[in-house]
Amino acid sequence: MTEKTLQTLFHETLKDIYYAEGKILKALPKMAKAANSPDLKAAFEKHRSETEGQLERLQQVFEIFGKRAQAKTCDAIEGIIAEGEEIMDDFKGQPALDAGLASAAQAVEHYEIARYGTLARWAGELGMSDAQELLTATLREEEATDQALTSLAEKKLNPSAQAA
Ligand code: FE
Ligand code: FE
Ligand code: FE
Repeated sequence: MTEKTLQTLFHETLKDIYYAEGKILKALPKMAKAANSPDLKAAFEKHRSETEGQLERLQQVFEIFGKRAQAKTCDAIEGIIAEGEEIMDDFKGQPALDAGLASAAQAVEHYEIARYGTLARWAGELGMSDAQELLTATLREEEATDQALTSLAEKKLNPSAQAA
C-alpha cells in the first residue's frame, strides 16, 4: 500500500473543495432567484461570479501540485445545500425566507472557510507558496462574503423576518 502523507491529504481535500465549488456555482443562481431582498439577490450574484474565479484558482492549484483537476463527491456540501433547499421550499412566500437563505449561505461559507484555511496552511507547509497565495485569496473572498451576509442579516433581513 502506498504511504498516505500530507500530500495525500492535500490532494483529497483539493478534490473535495473542487467538487463543492462546482455545486455552489449551480446553487447560487437558485438562491438569488429565491431571495426577495434586492441586496441579498445582489450578494448571491456577486458571489456566483467570484465562485467562477475560485474554480479557476483551484485549477491552477492542481497544476502547481502536478495533478489533473478532479472532483470527488463532498457529502458535506450535498447536505448543506439540501438544507438550503429545504428552507427555500418551507419558507417560500414567508417573512423569514431571506433570513433563512442568508443563514443557509453562511453555512456554505463556513464549510469553505474551514477547507480553504486548512488547504492554504498545508500548501505553505508543502513549500507551494504560489498555491498558498491562491488559496488564501479565495479564503479572503469567502470570509468577506460571510461578513457581508452577517451585516445584511443584522441590518435588514432579520428585522423584517420578525413577527410584529
Ligand atoms: Fe467558494
Ligand atoms: Fe467535503
Ligand atoms: Fe463561497
